[in-house]
Amino acid sequence: MCAAKSHEKPNIVLSVLQNKCPRCRRGKLYKFNNPYHLRTFMKMNERCPVCGQPLDMEPGFYYGTNMVSYTIAVLIVALTFILWWIFIGFSLSDSRFFIWMLSACVLLVLLQPPLMRLSRTIWLAFFVPYSPNWDKGDIVEPERVNKDQAHNW
Ligand SMILES: [Zn+2]
Repeated sequence: MCAAKSHEKPNIVLSVLQNKCPRCRRGKLYKFNNPYHLRTFMKMNERCPVCGQPLDMEPGFYYGTNMVSYTIAVLIVALTFILWWIFIGFSLSDSRFFIWMLSACVLLVLLQPPLMRLSRTIWLAFFVPYSPNWDKGDIVEPERVNKDQAHNW
């Protein structure tokens, strides 16, 4: 990568979808790429490997991701409802409604690992803004971190 290109601002939507660090939009948040390797898919780097941004901002920081995850799940179910309504339709005289419900549930379960990752990425992006000087060390430091109590949940 050339020096000029490294200072282009990566697109926020693409960087979030690729689970990149919100500060530099370049470093990977997760240690492993495969979201369906269920033993390792939520293992995050302690710091962004590109800019050094700490990724665990305070004890229990990622508890808030449940709100993001819930919102995304509702949006997905609403989207499947609309698509089903347009292309298949609903009727009181057959079981299409229940088939849609079952399909939406199966889809949500199958999408759960990448959605859990995405929710964390979005949550972190609420608190850590993009920095055009990401390579110059103006890192957003965690406010309340007690190393003795780390991973104590
Ligand atoms: Zn970074």
